[in-house]
Amino acid sequence: MAVFDPARDIKIIREPEVYLVGRQTVAREDIDRFLADHDVATWQTDTEVAGEKLSEVAGRVCYMSFARPRPGGNKAYLEHILEVGHGSVLEHATWNFIFTGISRSLTHELVRHRAGFGYSQLSQRYVDESIAEYVEPDVIADDPATHALWLEAVGRCHQAYVQLVEKLLDKFKDEPDRTLRRKMARQAARSVLPNATETKIFVTANSRALRHFIELRGSRHAETEIRKLAVQVLRIMQKEAPNLFSDYQLVSLPDGTWEATTAHRKV
Ligand SMILES: Cc1cc2nc3c(=O)[nH]c(=O)nc-3n(C[C@H](O)[C@H](O)[C@H](O)COP(=O)(O)OP(=O)(O)OC[C@H]3O[C@@H](n4cnc5c(N)ncnc54)[C@H](O)[C@@H]3O)c2cc1C
Repeated sequence: MAVFDPARDIKIIREPEVYLVGRQTVAREDIDRFLADHDVATWQTDTEVAGEKLSEVAGRVCYMSFARPRPGGNKAYLEHILEVGHGSVLEHATWNFIFTGISRSLTHELVRHRAGFGYSQLSQRYVDESIAEYVEPDVIADDPATHALWLEAVGRCHQAYVQLVEKLLDKFKDEPDRTLRRKMARQAARSVLPNATETKIFVTANSRALRHFIELRGSRHAETEIRKLAVQVLRIMQKEAPNLFSDYQLVSLPDGTWEATTAHRKV
């Protein structure tokens, strides 16, 4: 077997990947049935984005304001919701994502966002981590000396993990359940894996929670890797649901990265 060479065998990741894998649909028939049951002859709005439409319906249910909508359509309606801070209305628009190419240190920060978020993350107990993919911070990658130090350290951790799994599998060789044997080995061996270890996470979030995440983690005060993720999420959401996210501006920072700002702080 070839000797492990970190420079050749470790896949280094420097950019997160965001997959928007799910969005809502509107059940127009039942909206119409609800309106008819409440003596509203007709109601139309001008967005095709289900999350935006459902948020408007939710807001209009609060005041039963379907009959005489103000001008400006869905965009103006949601802007008003942001201005007055009627935040619960934004909880009815939800999306599903998969984030990959991110470190375990990033997901440790990500899962601190509790309200309005759901998570399902790759299990280091079940999944073999000998695949050797690690996320390197740009500030380390930019300098050959720090990059070499980082690669050596990550390489050592990686090798220790692989060796520990091997030894622990041997230690538990009498365990008849193959899956359990592997789990027992991997769950202990993972203790030497670094924060840089790449992970994957399925995330469901509503637009109120996403806006709060973008505000906190898209800020210049946030850590760089999670800020890159927040900016990517924002760029996707500005195309996906402009009426809910177009108030954000992306401002370039002196180090070439971006920060997200808005006049509408957390609602
Ligand atoms: C720059 C930065 C540095 C940070 N540094 C650290 C650190 O050093 N150590 C550390 O532990 N964390 C740190 N954090 C994490 C931070 O404390 C929050 O846990 C994280 O940003 C999630 O924010 P949140 O609690 O507002 O979000 P969520 O948990 O999603 O909550 C959203 C909102 O719901 C409300 N809410 C949620 N739960 C409760 C509750 N139990 N009671 C009352 N209201 C509630 C609040 O209004 C809250 O803002 C840092 C965050 C940032 C952005």
